[in-house]
Amino acid sequence: MEKARACSATVEAVRALTPDVLEVDLRLVEPPELPFQAGQWISVPLGPKIVRAYSMASAPGTRDRITLCADVAPGGIGSQWFRGLTAGATVQFKAPNGGFVLDPADQRRPLFVAEEIGIVPMRSMLVDFYASSQARPAALIYWARDPGWLIYDEEFRSLSRNVADFRYLPAVRQPPPGWRGDVGEITAVVDRLVHSGDRTVAYVAGSGDTIKHVRQVLVGKGFDRKTVKWEKFW
Ligand SMILES: Cc1cc2nc3c(=O)[nH]c(=O)nc-3n(C[C@H](O)[C@H](O)[C@H](O)COP(=O)(O)OP(=O)(O)OC[C@H]3O[C@@H](n4cnc5c(N)ncnc54)[C@H](O)[C@@H]3O)c2cc1C
Repeated sequence: MEKARACSATVEAVRALTPDVLEVDLRLVEPPELPFQAGQWISVPLGPKIVRAYSMASAPGTRDRITLCADVAPGGIGSQWFRGLTAGATVQFKAPNGGFVLDPADQRRPLFVAEEIGIVPMRSMLVDFYASSQARPAALIYWARDPGWLIYDEEFRSLSRNVADFRYLPAVRQPPPGWRGDVGEITAVVDRLVHSGDRTVAYVAGSGDTIKHVRQVLVGKGFDRKTVKWEKFW
């Protein structure tokens, strides 16, 4: 695994995916290319002993540019930094960090469970996974309060239409009329949709409470605790 190093980059583009979710493309300056594994994150220093982490939303195949995606609704120092990014600005950070990554030697099928913006590292993993010739069956349970918070939903629906091995299972608390997906709280949805932990490795990202409760449900289905990998965003 690459060691984290000091990096600088130029903001190339900023896109509002929703009023509260922004995507930012960064072009690497130093180093000019950043090798990383899908699922890893950058750490941004925002003051003495204050850092915020942002996962790579883009896949590692593109090394001279990375895309980040943030929910800026929390409104704290990290959200303010992200909202303030404009094209041409220079940003400093350390990367790559973290071990929430797929092991290429692991033959088990991945089950991804994302709560809202917790989708970001999984988006990178899924793009990378299906770009490789070794892709295996995988499933994504993607939960949000309502469909407006299902960032990349169209992309996953399209992936599931094009890749027979990929099952996309979106779920919301508040379904609009005509909603095509599951309904309920994330733990109940996981309980309903997952039948066994046989030859499966789970990746869960979102809040600490969600990770805890989803892990309990999965362990109840026969998953070993160690086969439930997690990234706590908040
Ligand atoms: C490994 C890792 C990767 C991360 N990757 C991303 C990423 O790709 N995109 C991203 O948006 N964030 C990501 N985060 C979270 C990010 O680092 C910040 O915590 C987030 O942007 C909020 O920071 P803040 O300073 O604005 O708010 P804070 O002042 O830190 O938090 C304000 C309050 O909001 C809560 N909170 C924080 N985030 C959320 C949320 N999304 N939904 C609901 N409540 C929340 C906090 O618990 C706190 O109570 C990641 C965190 C980790 C640890």
